[in-house]
Amino acid sequence: MAKGMTFIIAGPSGVGKGSVIKKVFESGRKLYFSVSATTRAPRPGERDGVDYHFISYEQFQSWIAEGAFLEHAEFVGNCYGTPKRYVDEAMDRGEDVILDIEVQGAEQIHRLRPEAVRIFLAPPSWAELRRRLTGRGTESEEKVEKRLQRSREEFQVAREYDYLVVNDNLEQAAAEVLAIIAASHCRAEDRYEAVRRTLEAQ
Ligand code: 5GP
Repeated sequence: MAKGMTFIIAGPSGVGKGSVIKKVFESGRKLYFSVSATTRAPRPGERDGVDYHFISYEQFQSWIAEGAFLEHAEFVGNCYGTPKRYVDEAMDRGEDVILDIEVQGAEQIHRLRPEAVRIFLAPPSWAELRRRLTGRGTESEEKVEKRLQRSREEFQVAREYDYLVVNDNLEQAAAEVLAIIAASHCRAEDRYEAVRRTLEAQ
């Protein structure tokens, strides 16, 4: 069975990565969502083990020491990381893995696994991003400003990504991500060998 592929959805905090990913999952396509670990406190409604593994700073450091992370990064005062084991197990089962991470983590994975597909999700405008971040009501004014500042820096790397999707309309953005996933599986360099073997076996 072919191994699954990794799809990185990166982009500014508040751009709607979570909402787009949720829509993509609703399409029924079989995908595995990588639940990250974080030292950030849960927001109301967030569930441990579903939205994140909420762990202490000390536990985070010991996971780093054990080599348990595929990547990890600090983001506006908190640590975030992708547990390696679950990603690899899902890929070995042939499942595609979706990662919702910020750009430093995306960069680390790109260096380790250049075949991972990087999708940058951009806001339709900075004003809209500010509105979404403020509307969430979970961050202080100062944290919102920090996240906005960080967003502008993050956007500079978007041109290096494989794909750039603008989250103006949720349905449209999710449809584009699904199209990218489908197209990635048709890449000749990945498919050629399997198709050749099938053809020659006839
Ligand atoms: P939030 O605190 O809003 O849930 O997440 C803040 C940022 O951290 C978001 O851009 C989110 O995509 C990113 N993030 C979530 N999990 C991870 C992870 O495992 N690794 C990295 N590098 N970033 C993450």
